[in-house]
Amino acid sequence: MENSGEPTIFDKIVAKEIPATVIYEDNLCLAFRDVAPQAKTHFLVIPKIRAGLTRLSNAEEEHKALLGHLLFTAQRVAKDEGLGEGFRVVINDGVQGCQSVYHLHLHVLGGQQLTWPPG
Ligand code: IMP
Repeated sequence: MENSGEPTIFDKIVAKEIPATVIYEDNLCLAFRDVAPQAKTHFLVIPKIRAGLTRLSNAEEEHKALLGHLLFTAQRVAKDEGLGEGFRVVINDGVQGCQSVYHLHLHVLGGQQLTWPPG
């Protein structure tokens, strides 16, 4: 359920209050392994500061550069993870998109042959 800005579990990961397997970090974003992987390789890329981006559909003009940075980072870390044969980037948005954590995040899935379409 979307909240009004309460810290999410991902804020706690950024603050190092709860552990995560971080595989990439810069001043704007963090990539870490999903705790319940849905593919052989499954990591998340999140902005360090949510800045209103609880979900993709809250994006404003001011978020454009950050959104580009997250997508660029996703492919860069995918390469570092050996996903040169291909991978999938997913953003779940809202209830019908099955979003469960309301802190924008990109799922990156790969390391195996994926199927299409997803459910
Ligand atoms: P969503 O359903 O698109 O919001 O995805 C949330 C993702 O966060 C799920 O794939 C969860 O497995 C993942 N997740 C939740 N808590 C943690 C955690 O503490 N560490 C790493 N991944 C998490």
